[in-house]
Amino acid sequence: MTETTIVASNFIRSIMLEHVKHDKHTSQLVTRFPPEPNGYLHIGHAVSICLNFGLAQEFGGLCNLRFDDTNPGRESQEYIQSIKRDVSWLGFSWHEKAYYASNYFSDLYGFAIELIEKNLAYVCDLTPGQARRYRGSLTQPGCNSPYRERSIAKNLDLFKRMKRGQFGDGERVLRAKIDMASPNMNMRDPIIYRIRHTQHHQTGNQWCIYPMYDFTHGLCDALEHVTHSICTLEFEDHRPLYDWFIENVTVPSRPHQYEFARLEINYTITSKRKLKLLVDEGWVQSWDDPRMPTLSGMRRRGYTPRAIRNFCAATPVARNKGITDMSRLETAVRDDLDTYAPRAMCVINPLKLTIANWPDGHSESLSLPIHPKDVSMGYRKVSMGRNLYIDQADFAEQPPRKWKRLAPGQAVRLRGSYIIHCVSVIKDANDKVIELICHYDHDTLGSKPQGYRANGVIHWVNDAEAIPLKVNLYDRLFNHPNPEADKEIDFTTQLNPNSLVVVTSAIAEPSIAKSSPGDHFQFEREGYFCVDIDSCKQRIIVNRTLPLKDSWVKINS
Ligand code: ATP
Ligand code: MG
Repeated sequence: MTETTIVASNFIRSIMLEHVKHDKHTSQLVTRFPPEPNGYLHIGHAVSICLNFGLAQEFGGLCNLRFDDTNPGRESQEYIQSIKRDVSWLGFSWHEKAYYASNYFSDLYGFAIELIEKNLAYVCDLTPGQARRYRGSLTQPGCNSPYRERSIAKNLDLFKRMKRGQFGDGERVLRAKIDMASPNMNMRDPIIYRIRHTQHHQTGNQWCIYPMYDFTHGLCDALEHVTHSICTLEFEDHRPLYDWFIENVTVPSRPHQYEFARLEINYTITSKRKLKLLVDEGWVQSWDDPRMPTLSGMRRRGYTPRAIRNFCAATPVARNKGITDMSRLETAVRDDLDTYAPRAMCVINPLKLTIANWPDGHSESLSLPIHPKDVSMGYRKVSMGRNLYIDQADFAEQPPRKWKRLAPGQAVRLRGSYIIHCVSVIKDANDKVIELICHYDHDTLGSKPQGYRANGVIHWVNDAEAIPLKVNLYDRLFNHPNPEADKEIDFTTQLNPNSLVVVTSAIAEPSIAKSSPGDHFQFEREGYFCVDIDSCKQRIIVNRTLPLKDSWVKINS
């Protein structure tokens, strides 16, 4: 990490400050980011990454990347690779190597044996349906399993046979012996191990029993000497169990869990399960579809790691739940891109414009700044000629009042070039305007016109040097601010049907021809764009990152 991430003051940071002040941890402060490799990382994970890596960095500690890989059926190497790539792209590096919960399967097995030997765990033969009934409810205490009082020797024997593969999936489980009457359902003899005859992406066929998340997580924290185990609020009720496991087996360190409210952003979703459904059912093209709130989708769309880090740093880490406005993320992206994205002119919906008084065959080279606020970025060349294109949206035959663009009899300045007047229009058989005939005022290059005013400034592209582009105009994925609010309504019905508009007729000035995938541009008066990863010299594809201004609420409310 080259740049330091500033984590805004928050309650977890305050706790750490206190701990450091009182020397609570004799050794280093250690955090971890523990994704389950069952999907791609999204903007919510970015908050957790910035928090865990950022705080470790600030306090001179370490942050481990640890894959929580205890569900082999749902996980894959593809997800592991994407997660590593996304964490690196965000600007963080993990300590030494990435860890896996599966690195500790032998230790965890040993802890399970220790619990059995202490008469704190037993093998239970109840079917899943029976176990559910025995568990009770929020208002009813549970009942002890008839297998709860098995002898330690019997439990050891059965558990070892579970490990040796002598039983089928779901036939038996190992459970902690805690309290079936606890008001906290998580403490009602939770399952520690279940049988799954499934190949694991890291351990192959070595195991057919797999530890549960609650058992695994805290004990891995302890094995890695994690001091502050930061997670989201839904794990608050699991904390007594987290502590119970750590207090009842022999571990090398004592981690503590701290919870904060997960990030929720309007107009999108941050549930991996639902994002996977959008991919699997073809609502979007892939996990890195630029409309997805995944880090890979945002990267492809043109969001930058710095913008995402700035957004995360400014997002309150709190105990109370709230919904963050999408425009805050978008503003962070605009603010970042504004400072360095090279400017260029691109006409998305071209309308032919002929300058009738321009000398035939004449061309004039013009220099435009690459960035108007940073001349050190240099200049780009565009040439002015007789046959140009402007955007259809910049011409109105019957302009409304205060029209700031081109209209019959009116004048506008072509960006970086001359002032032109529209003298006539040519229409097709359907009365559609297909060409504008204009005159230019040759005294107006770099100077004001004499005796009249131009209506405004519009962008243009010279036909003689136009580069054809495919433009993907992306918009928000959902129409509804909270697509998951109504549990009765399928969230896919809230998708924005206009979240992608593909334009194949766009043209741009020549500076775009040298671009490579991932390059950013501000197309003047249009917005920020990023060259797509599928782009090549023969066919340039650009994705609209964001329009220049946030007009979403105005248009859609
Ligand atoms: P999901 O519900 O989307 O599947 P998850 O919590 O199951 O999310 P994990 O891969 O387990 O996904 O998450 C890794 C870490 O990221 C966890 O510590 C989790 O608390 C954190 N995290 C996940 N989603 C968010 C979010 N929306 N805001 C903040 N942190 C999050
Ligand atoms: Mg999780």
